[in-house]
Amino acid sequence: MSHHRPSFAAIQFAFLTAISTISGIECHSEHHHHEHLRHLQSTTRCDTTDPGKAGEDAIITAVAAFRETPRAQRTSLPIVVPVCFHTLYAAGGAPLTDEKLQSTLNHLNQAFTSSSCCDRALEWCTSEIVDKLCSTETQITFEFAELVGGVVTGDTTVGTSVTALNACVVRTENGDWFTHSKSIDEAPMKDALHLGDRRVLNAYFVDFPNGSLGYATFPFNDNGKLDGVVVGFDTLPGDGGRFGEGDTLVHEVGHWLGLPHTFSGGCFASDGVLDTAKTRDPYNGCTPQLSRPDSCPTSTGADPIFNFMDYSDDVCMYEFTTGQKETMLAMWEFYRLGDGGIAADEIIQLQLGVPSNPIDLFPREKQLYKLPTSTCEVTCTLSGDKEGDVDLFVEYDQVPQYNDGDSCVSESGGNTESCRLQSSGRSLVPLGCRNRSRRQCNDLTVDAIYVGIQGYGISTAKSLVVTCSRNA
Ligand SMILES: [Zn+2]
Repeated sequence: MSHHRPSFAAIQFAFLTAISTISGIECHSEHHHHEHLRHLQSTTRCDTTDPGKAGEDAIITAVAAFRETPRAQRTSLPIVVPVCFHTLYAAGGAPLTDEKLQSTLNHLNQAFTSSSCCDRALEWCTSEIVDKLCSTETQITFEFAELVGGVVTGDTTVGTSVTALNACVVRTENGDWFTHSKSIDEAPMKDALHLGDRRVLNAYFVDFPNGSLGYATFPFNDNGKLDGVVVGFDTLPGDGGRFGEGDTLVHEVGHWLGLPHTFSGGCFASDGVLDTAKTRDPYNGCTPQLSRPDSCPTSTGADPIFNFMDYSDDVCMYEFTTGQKETMLAMWEFYRLGDGGIAADEIIQLQLGVPSNPIDLFPREKQLYKLPTSTCEVTCTLSGDKEGDVDLFVEYDQVPQYNDGDSCVSESGGNTESCRLQSSGRSLVPLGCRNRSRRQCNDLTVDAIYVGIQGYGISTAKSLVVTCSRNA
C-alpha cells in the first residue's frame, strides 16, 4: 500500500491557484477564493493527508461489509474508545493542567452526542427555523485507558476522570517535540510515546509554530506507532479565538475513526459518506444556516459547514451525520477492533496436498487452518485475488500470532505467497521467516502445522486458497 500520496495542502494549493486564474468567475466568488487562500496560509486547519479515492473505497467496503455482519446489530450498543493524553512541554514550561485536560476530554465526549448543537450565542442558531440544529447521537464515548508501569493494560474501567488512578495521562518534557514540525518530530515523538494497540486513541498536545492546528492518521492504513492524533495545545476549550473550543481534537479524532474531510473529492467525487453534501473546497469562518454557500450547485444540499469534518471556525462546528456515525462504527469494527467482525475460532481443516475451499476476507479479518502432519517438510502457499495485502502466518503445533507482516517473506509479485518449512540438521525452521515466527520443529516431528491468514489494507481479498504440500 502506498504511503506516498500527495498531501492535501499541496493539492489544495494547486487547486486554488488554478481557480484564481480561470477567467469568467464572478467577482464575489473570486474574492471568496482569495480570502480563502489567505486564511489557509495563515492557519492550516488540518495537516492530515487526504486519503482520496483510497479512503472512499475503504469506507464503502467497510460500511458494506459491516451491514452484512451480525455486528451491525451492535450499532445500538455504545463503543468506548480508550484514550491516552500526551501533554508535551518545553523546559521551563509546564504540561497542560488537569483542569484543561478534563475539559478537553469532556468536550470530546460531548461532541459525539446529540447534545452537540449549534452555538446558542449565535443569533441564527436560536431562530425558529433552525432551533433544532443538533448532531447525531454517535454512541461513541471516550474514556481513559489504564496505564500501569508504562503499559496500557487493556482494562477499560478507568473512566473519564483525569485524576483517576492509572488514567493514561502522560506528561513529557521535550522542547523539540513540543515545538512541533510534523515532518521532523512526528516519528521520533510517537516512536517514544505511543501506547497500546489500534484501539487506543493516542492524542498528543503540542505547539505548531507554522500555524497548523493538527493532523491525524486514518484507521485503514497500517500506522504502527504513528497511529494517533496531534493537535495544538492552544486549541482546547477555553483557549478562545477562532479555534479555541476544542473542535480541532474532535475533527482529528473524526479522521482517526475513518472520516475524510467533507470536501474530499470535491464536486465530482465523494468523501465516501452518503449523507454529507458534496463540497468543492473547505469553508473558513462561519455563516448562518440559511446563507450557507453551495459550492457544488448541481448536487444536493448546501455546503455542510457545520460539520466537524469541514474547516469552519469552532463556533460553527457541531455536527456528525448519521452516515458519518455508521462509517465510524464500521471503521472501528474492521480496522481498530482488529478481529474483522467474524469469529476466527472456526478452524478449517487441511489435508496435505489438497487446496482449501476458497474464502473471502474482509479487511483485518482472520482465518485459521490446521494441517495434521508428522513432518515439518512442508510448503504452504496462499493464493487468490488479493486487491489489498493479505499476510500469511505459519507455526508448528500452535496457533500463530497475528503480527503485522508475513511470517515468511512473500514471493515477489503476483497474488501468491508461500512459506517453505524445511529441515536444517536436527533443527527445523521456517526458511526465510522473520525472527518472531522462528520456532523449531522439535525432534524432527510435529503433530500439526497451523496456517493463519489475515487481510490488511483497504480492500476485500477474494477467493483465497491455502495449499500445504510436502516439499518437492
Ligand atoms: Zn482534517
